Parts: sequence; C-alpha cells; structure tokens
Amino acid sequence: MIATGIGWDVHRLVSGRPLVLGGVTVPSELGLEGHSDADVLTHAVIDALLGAAGLGDVGEHFPDTDERWRGADSLELLRHVDAQLAERGCAVVNVDATVILEQPKLGEHKAAMRDALAGALELSPERVNVKATRGEGMGFIGRVEGAAALAIATVELPGAG
Ligand code: MG
Repeated sequence: MIATGIGWDVHRLVSGRPLVLGGVTVPSELGLEGHSDADVLTHAVIDALLGAAGLGDVGEHFPDTDERWRGADSLELLRHVDAQLAERGCAVVNVDATVILEQPKLGEHKAAMRDALAGALELSPERVNVKATRGEGMGFIGRVEGAAALAIATVELPGAG
C-alpha cells in the first residue's frame, strides 16, 4: 500500500546561530533557534515520513526536553527515522519539500540540500525535491522573524492491505 504524510515546521531566526537547512549550512547573518540544530527543512521531512508510516511526530521521537538531542545534527535524526521505517518494511518512494525564508536566497543551495537529504535517506537524488520561496514581506517570514518548511512524503508500506 502507498501512503503519504505531511510535515510542517517553523523556527525563529536569531543572531549567533548557523542557518542549517537540509543539512547544509547556508551563509547568513541570522540562523535558526532551537534545541537541535533547528534544521526546519529536515524536521518537516521527518514529520512527513513519520506521518506516512503512522509513527507520530518529531516531538515524540526527539523531545526538546531530552539532553540527548541538544545541538543534534538533524540529518542524524532523519537517518534514525529512516531506519525505523526500514525496520517496519516501509520503503520511501519520494519526498518533496518547500522552505519558506525571506533571506538569503536559497537557489544556489537547493541541490546540495536535496543531495544531503537523499543521502541520509539512501535514495537517489531524483526521489527528493527541495523548493524555496519567500514571504514577500508579509507575516513573520516576510519580517525575517522566522523560517518555515513543509514537506510531503510517499512511502510504500508492507502488506497488501
Ligand atoms: Mg523543528
């Protein structure tokens, strides 16, 4: 059976933090605040995968009250989730994601993000797509207060049901 899942995440933009998106550190004056590396894109992808497999959400798997995940590399968390899916016989078909960030422009970094996400999932890069868009000056994204990401994943579940 084929199943799909969605993921959505937001993190605040602050000074003194790196901007990590899809495992790629993007040069920026502001970075994302969070318990882990605050990789908003990877968190949305994790939630989409967990959703497709019926396994809850990222907060249940990696609570921000757990010191184990302080400063965590979110690609490691993604590998961990991918392994949990594989254990259950779930095969990831594809992932599509959009990062919404006012600045900097992400065009030249999208391919590296796709490759890093695909690498963590052991998928060929054609199975992963990363898009970027802006807030057009509106709302918290447009005011450069934060960044958001959304993702959808398609997973083949075991069994005919
Ligand atoms: Mg998050």
